[in-house]
Amino acid sequence: MADQKEKQCKNPVCTCPPQPDGKYCSASCEGAGKTLELDCDCGHPDCQGNF
Ligand SMILES: [Zn+2]
Ligand SMILES: [Zn+2]
Repeated sequence: MADQKEKQCKNPVCTCPPQPDGKYCSASCEGAGKTLELDCDCGHPDCQGNF
C-alpha cells in the first residue's frame, strides 16, 4: 500500500493506469516502448497521450 507512485502506464506519453498484471495499459503501449512515439495508440478515451 505504500508504493502508489507508478500507477501509470510505463509508456511515457500514456496517462492510463496499467493493467493489473502488467506495466502497460495495453499491448499497444508495450510495443511503443521500443519505438519512442510522441502519441499514444492505446485507444483509451481518457488517455491524454492520444492525438
Ligand atoms: Zn494511452
Ligand atoms: Zn498505455
